[in-house]
Amino acid sequence: MSIKVVVIGAGPAGYPAALTAAKLGAQVTVVEKAHLGGVCLNSGCIPSKSLLDAAHRFDVIKNISSLCEEGSADAAQTVLQHLSWKKIQTRQQAVTNKLTLGINALFRQAKINLITAIASFKDTNTLIVKTEQEEKEICFDYAIICTGSTAFVPPPFDKIKEHIYDNSNIFTLPQLPQTLTIVGGGVIGCEFATLMSSLGVKVSVIEMQNRLLPTLDEGLSRVIETNLRKRGVTLLLGKKAIDARVENERKILTLEDGTHIESEVILAAIGRSCDLTELKAENAGLQWDRKGLKNVNPQTMQITENIYAAGDVTGLSLLAHAATRQAAVAAGNICGKPTTYNNDLVPNAVYTSPELASVGLGKQQAQEKGLEIKTYKYFMLANGRSLTMDAAEGFVEVIADKNSDKILGAVMAAPNASEIISSITVALQAGLTVEQLKNVIFPHPTVCESIGDALAK
Ligand SMILES: Cc1cc2nc3c(=O)[nH]c(=O)nc-3n(C[C@H](O)[C@H](O)[C@H](O)COP(=O)(O)OP(=O)(O)OC[C@H]3O[C@@H](n4cnc5c(N)ncnc54)[C@H](O)[C@@H]3O)c2cc1C
Repeated sequence: MSIKVVVIGAGPAGYPAALTAAKLGAQVTVVEKAHLGGVCLNSGCIPSKSLLDAAHRFDVIKNISSLCEEGSADAAQTVLQHLSWKKIQTRQQAVTNKLTLGINALFRQAKINLITAIASFKDTNTLIVKTEQEEKEICFDYAIICTGSTAFVPPPFDKIKEHIYDNSNIFTLPQLPQTLTIVGGGVIGCEFATLMSSLGVKVSVIEMQNRLLPTLDEGLSRVIETNLRKRGVTLLLGKKAIDARVENERKILTLEDGTHIESEVILAAIGRSCDLTELKAENAGLQWDRKGLKNVNPQTMQITENIYAAGDVTGLSLLAHAATRQAAVAAGNICGKPTTYNNDLVPNAVYTSPELASVGLGKQQAQEKGLEIKTYKYFMLANGRSLTMDAAEGFVEVIADKNSDKILGAVMAAPNASEIISSITVALQAGLTVEQLKNVIFPHPTVCESIGDALAK
């Protein structure tokens, strides 16, 4: 008899968890209350990257006149005047639909039982699934909780919640505003500042800390601050909004220093939070808070004898690729193919202009750990491929242990940094030294060869 595994949620944690468990011989049921693909496909990674790609095409048009005969600036301006937010949104939805259909097909092939319903625990072996029509019980041997997170909208923004957008529903904006205030200079805030400014919106970003992307390497903050300022984005760093109100459709924020910021639309990009009230996690003996489930083993993803978790709900990382790896680990450990997750090897990517990425330890983090390090930095200004793309902002920096020569991590701000960072992730996973990575032949001309050039210095 095959084991019965129930997966709650079908985001980038839930659907790979289900597919892995089915592949390893389990009888799998997935309970999803909304859409296949979760936040990632429907209101996160994929929609935001589709919008960023559209915005980038308009940036290219804006700069095309340097390659054209005189008079072309007017033609570019005409194209910009015909920008259709509706068509940009339609394309974004079409991409999501294609990917969602793909998951559906994979589920059918793997004979996964998909139930569209709200799941809650009755006890440690029983789930209640509730639709508008009926309520039924499902017994399971193992459960994998993949319920993700939702937008966090703290005071004072919560009191005008109905009038502002958050990091999940910003994609439903009916039209582009003339002015947008983004509260929060984290990853989502910076990505939206980039794309909205490319689409001609006048953007301001308010960030409490004294730099954008405060959880990432300082060098990356500097690059993105310079780029956003060049685009005309107003950065209000080290500023905190203490009041929010709506007056005649205008949204007004009051900062701690008494100044007021007025705009047509506010995007609260402040963070994410978990709420397991609906899941009745306590009926399965589980504890949680806003950051997620407690007592998740960060290597095996196990919480109790028969309950595992993966994705945002674990509180380990708020990234889709981390969710997917955790899911494979949870399903593997349940179905007799033990494996472990390593949170230190999760790469970060920020899809701004230039893209930013990091993996492993940055310079400051390594120094905070008391490690003796050596660093290898290369500026994109000297990289041929970046120059051919008119995109030579940024740098690549590799960090290594001074004594063992082992690569500890890297940070980069460069074209396609989200792709290039994988070379370093592989090096970290394989435990390579600087000397070994130096022997790798990178194709020329590429952005990636800047890693080799950095190490050769
Ligand atoms: C704007 C934005 C951009 C982002 N961009 C990126 C990016 O570029 N790269 C990246 O790596 N990450 C990105 N993220 C983060 C990424 O989307 C999340 O880390 C990822 O979706 C988490 O996956 P998950 O499966 O844990 O949860 P989710 O994707 O949140 O899925 C959870 C699913 O569980 C369902 N569910 C919840 N409770 C129940 C219940 N009781 N019963 C049944 N179903 C339930 C929900 O309906 C949902 O479909 C972005 C997020 C946002 C908001």
